[in-house]
Amino acid sequence: MKFNSVRGTKDICPPEIELWQYLEKTAVELLQDYGFSEIRTPIFEESGLFNRSIGEDTDIVEKEMYTFADKKGRSLTLRPEGTAGVVRAAIENNLLAQGNLTKLYYLGPMFRYERPQAGRYRQFYQIGAESIGSSSYWRDVEIILWCVEFFSRIGLSGIKVYINSVGCPECRPGYREVLQKFLQENTTQLCADCQRRMVRNPLRVLDCKVETCRQVVSRMPAIQNYLCQSCRDNFQDIQQALQKENITFTVDKFLVRGLDYYTQVVFEIKSENLGAQDAVAAGGRYDKLVKELGGPDMPAVGFALGMERVSEVLKKQRAGALMETWVDIYFALLGKQAQQESFNFIRDLRQSGLKVEACLEDKSLKNQMRQADQGKAKLTVIIGEEEIRKGIAMVRDMQTKEQKEIKLNDLVSFLKELKLK
Ligand SMILES: [Zn+2]
Ligand SMILES: [Zn+2]
Repeated sequence: MKFNSVRGTKDICPPEIELWQYLEKTAVELLQDYGFSEIRTPIFEESGLFNRSIGEDTDIVEKEMYTFADKKGRSLTLRPEGTAGVVRAAIENNLLAQGNLTKLYYLGPMFRYERPQAGRYRQFYQIGAESIGSSSYWRDVEIILWCVEFFSRIGLSGIKVYINSVGCPECRPGYREVLQKFLQENTTQLCADCQRRMVRNPLRVLDCKVETCRQVVSRMPAIQNYLCQSCRDNFQDIQQALQKENITFTVDKFLVRGLDYYTQVVFEIKSENLGAQDAVAAGGRYDKLVKELGGPDMPAVGFALGMERVSEVLKKQRAGALMETWVDIYFALLGKQAQQESFNFIRDLRQSGLKVEACLEDKSLKNQMRQADQGKAKLTVIIGEEEIRKGIAMVRDMQTKEQKEIKLNDLVSFLKELKLK
């Protein structure tokens, strides 16, 4: 009997996982530099949480959620995104206090039943963060800046920032009416879903992936002309701040993000190297969600980035470059005595934080040197019967190919002093 992974899921194996660990480590360090603390929420929640926050008429809630009844018949859903759960948890655990700013980050798998394609999976990983409790537009800028800084730190080039304002409860109803009128005039070109959405939630037509709907969207009146004064000012302020911080961006008037909870500025970050595939990171402000989920009336802004897409682009760009430090020292050992003598050295070096691997399987020297090469070892320590007899080890620099004899008694301290980490 042979089993395969479920369609739309994938295993992340070595050496790819090294890249993932590097991305996670870099992101976590940078999030902490920006004052975010980690929160871990369950992978499944009550279905109602997502219906309420993401919105009943969105593609996510209508088509993409893994919803199931548990043994007691309760409707549960595997989280399709991170924000709803984080906000629920922040309220429930009393992390939010009026007048205070709460900055939280999360990482982990999300689940959406979408058509699998390059860079899109049904179980996918996100790193995201939420700033809850501030209406300052500098918090929006801070989040966008974090993303730009992160992509620069990991060396991802060809990054483009797109922004738009989706308005607020003041001005959106007006735009909604205009939109509804326009869509009614073009009903025949809309798919069945959009014909239904048009009545209940016309903004969601903008997310539709059906080609004829996309054509209608491209002729639609833009929301910018219908923003209220405070949304207009907010959008201006953010654009000026981004310019001041030297972050190049494009205003995309059709950018709305496929979730109902967004208010005012939303953004997407795309990579030129990813072709037509969606964003590598995205987010925006959601000033009404905390209250909507039973918490205090607190403004908030957040983002999430997609690990699969980021690692795809990075793999293309920096092929193999991240594997250089897989192993610091490789021990090529010939004969039982060499294994016996060395095992203690290996243990000692590992305890000091060095990455050490050894051949303990009676293989030829040629074979062992190939292992050392594959592991991108910086140094190889060769110990055979001859070396044991002389009480020495051969230390080979894998880059310069230089070899040095070191006394076995001095070997560990010699290797530690090289500061290979
Ligand atoms: Zn407004
Ligand atoms: Zn449609």
